[in-house]
Amino acid sequence: MSIKHTFDVLIIGSGAAGLTLGLSLPDNLSAAIISKDSLDAGSTRWAQGGVAAVLDEEDTVDAHVQDTLTAGAGLCHESSVRFTIENSTAAIKWLVDLGVPFDQDESGTDFHLTREGGHSVRRIIHAADATGVAISDTLQQAAKQKNNLHLLSDYIAVDLITGEKLGQKGTGCFGAYFLNKSTGHVEVITASAVVLATGGASKAYLYTSNPDGASGDGIAMAWRAGARVANMEFNQFHPTCLYHPKAKSFLITEAVRGEGGHLLLPNGERFMHRFDERLELAPRDIVARAIDHEMKRLGADCLYLDISHKDEDFIKGHFPTIYERCLEFGIDITKEPIPVVPAAHYTCGGVVTDQSGRTDIPGLYAVGETAHTGLHGANRLASNSLLECLVFARQAAQHIAEQIKPGLELPEVPGWDESQVTDADEAVVIAHNWDELRRFMWDYVGIVRTTKRLVRAKHRVKLLREEIHEFYGNYRVTNDLLELRNLVDVADVIIRSALLRKESRGLHYSLDYPNALPRAFDTVLTPKYLKELGEL
Ligand SMILES: Cc1cc2nc3c(=O)[nH]c(=O)nc-3n(C[C@H](O)[C@H](O)[C@H](O)COP(=O)(O)OP(=O)(O)OC[C@H]3O[C@@H](n4cnc5c(N)ncnc54)[C@H](O)[C@@H]3O)c2cc1C
Repeated sequence: MSIKHTFDVLIIGSGAAGLTLGLSLPDNLSAAIISKDSLDAGSTRWAQGGVAAVLDEEDTVDAHVQDTLTAGAGLCHESSVRFTIENSTAAIKWLVDLGVPFDQDESGTDFHLTREGGHSVRRIIHAADATGVAISDTLQQAAKQKNNLHLLSDYIAVDLITGEKLGQKGTGCFGAYFLNKSTGHVEVITASAVVLATGGASKAYLYTSNPDGASGDGIAMAWRAGARVANMEFNQFHPTCLYHPKAKSFLITEAVRGEGGHLLLPNGERFMHRFDERLELAPRDIVARAIDHEMKRLGADCLYLDISHKDEDFIKGHFPTIYERCLEFGIDITKEPIPVVPAAHYTCGGVVTDQSGRTDIPGLYAVGETAHTGLHGANRLASNSLLECLVFARQAAQHIAEQIKPGLELPEVPGWDESQVTDADEAVVIAHNWDELRRFMWDYVGIVRTTKRLVRAKHRVKLLREEIHEFYGNYRVTNDLLELRNLVDVADVIIRSALLRKESRGLHYSLDYPNALPRAFDTVLTPKYLKELGEL
């Protein structure tokens, strides 16, 4: 018999989106906020730069809207952009009231704002270079004070429970199955409203700036449950992540290039002049593409970023964290170049939602990086992502509070059946498939794409999906198997979306279609239609 729990609201994810939603619910609603690892395991804690918002007298909603639309390369939904930015000031005020220690300016009366690429004015509020830590700690502390919020760690969602799956058409989503990682058993959690706040899917790629758990679980679960997903071909790549076998996911900030760092080939030659007259200061996607091009051309494992021609004190003063971190791996950046590769950084697409975070499935919401709200279009403007988490989570909480009927009787849910499965005897299958998937996604579905490579990837992913789904059916579920199953579904969706986009726009660059089409369209995939076509 599976253990069963019931709450008014089930929030899967304890990053900025999930915690904000929980904290914004009225006290009379009980909610579980769940993380598959520790409560601060998501990307939120890793955010460095800050949150973009209209906070300065010189700034306006229109200016922030315009910058977002420009970055999004014609694909943003203007109503979503405007909605987000109109609510930005209130969202930041909410964080400030909760106690997030944002940096003050020299006068001590205003917040210090920085400016990042693509923003026409200073509008990034931050807590030194560790804004994510400040936000995550504050939200967690606040959530722990609330009697109606139940925080659960080490519970990984397996799949959503929908009426459809139980043969009760139209009853929507009312819970999920979770593997309790401490006991190894699957439990049932039911709720009148279920929220996916599970973060992005950048772990689909070999190199990523994201934490290990960014395996697109919410997107995959919503997709399997029948919800549409959109614009999954737009994955943002950060141009420079440290390349070292032991340095998982360490970003080398763009400020190193901003302060005069040179990008070098393995033979020490500079190459950016062949790609953009702004050289190393070209926008992020152009630099990422140039590095990718040179790596593929040379078959190189990495390229190099060199700041060692600058004064030693200058380097240590400006980049203390990078200096220290690289030194741990035996690289003295005051004396030698840093090995770098581009890395998958942000998932612009996701589960299709409206302005209240509602998905296609009644009772199922998606917020944060998991969702596609129309804000980012074909490319995310720096520091708009945490803002999106805050604004849409607050709005979704309001919608849930208005709609929900506390204590509503929920359909009877069968427990998890473990009688037909055994423990997997060959963990190597999972480890091998993880590596294979992330490698071919990197090589064939990465920064620069061709139709031939995408078709090749589609064949590979089909075989992998079959193998993994068979494995899933026969063996007891584990964290790694669940993440792999989700990743392979998300990879499939990314490849399908990329094949459908017959143009280059924003983050999607195809050598076969180097130009943008005159009109921009979202790539919206509907599982029902693909099933009817026998594609799923
Ligand atoms: C290195 C780095 C720097 C960044 N810098 C910035 C920045 O300066 N400004 C900015 O705006 N954005 C930045 N971003 C992006 C931003 O941090 C993320 O988009 C944002 O934090 C996502 O928040 P989230 O709440 O949607 O998800 P996350 O914070 O990723 O949280 C996901 C949560 O879901 C849980 N979860 C996932 N799957 C399951 C499952 N199956 N079962 C149970 N729980 C699950 C996880 O355990 C976690 O609790 C950065 C990202 C990275 C990686």
